Amino acid sequence: MAAETQLKVSDQVAVEISNMNKWYGAFHVLRDIDLTVYQGERIVIAGPSGSGKSTLIRCINALEEHQKGSISVDGTVLSNDIKNIDRIRSEVGMVFQHFNLFPHLTILENCTLAPIWVRKTPKREAEETAMHFLTKVKIPEQADKYPGQLSGGQQQRVAIARSLCMKPRIMLFDEPTSALDPEMISEVLDTMIELAEEGMTMLCVTHEMGFARKVANRVIFMDQGQIVEQNEPEEFFNNPKSERTKLFLSQIL
Ligand code: ADP
Ligand code: MG
Repeated sequence: MAAETQLKVSDQVAVEISNMNKWYGAFHVLRDIDLTVYQGERIVIAGPSGSGKSTLIRCINALEEHQKGSISVDGTVLSNDIKNIDRIRSEVGMVFQHFNLFPHLTILENCTLAPIWVRKTPKREAEETAMHFLTKVKIPEQADKYPGQLSGGQQQRVAIARSLCMKPRIMLFDEPTSALDPEMISEVLDTMIELAEEGMTMLCVTHEMGFARKVANRVIFMDQGQIVEQNEPEEFFNNPKSERTKLFLSQIL
């Protein structure tokens, strides 16, 4: 707990996870997760494939249910109450490995769909906001194209812009660069770095350890459904505590 207090960047809690457990059927996928995320934190979640990283962040925006313990986001407790779930989904943006854009909608329509239908934003205003964020991710000229006409790096930047159009307070990234050709990775990471610099609270599952060193204030290492270790990047990389962390780092660095 002392270590976590040192790492916080604000006194305001964004996400509070307490003794959270999740099962897929009989499989105990997340075990006794305790995690407090303060506003403005940039957390990188690392760990081997299958360790529960995606499941953890999917629980935070209620894409997955947990069965034990509690999760609250900006003070709202996640329950099966649909009103809470809608509220959480509009406050917590999520970017996936495979972009998940709607292929039959233009880039602009991808960005305005949720603001118009979920937030009830007037169409003109939603379009202005969309163009603002498409400009921010440096592809305003692609607004009238369809996702299939864009490169992977461009599509992922659209996915980030689309999330930002909902004015989220927290952004979750699940391996946002893993499906990209190497030359497109940096354009997506640059967008994420800019977001971090603007103070966005971010939880990023990524294998980009350069990004973790540069941007994260905290790295969390998961294995077999547990948080095994967490620390500031410098300590995490230079002085890992557990054998499992050492083994993982020796395999990826
Ligand atoms: P990671 O993102 O760290 O690779 P995941 O959270 O995707 O790990 O998966 C953790 C474990 O849960 C894996 O063993 C995976 O096979 C299993 N799992 C993931 N999703 C489901 C599901 N919908 N049903 C059953 N098991 C799942
Ligand atoms: Mg995953």
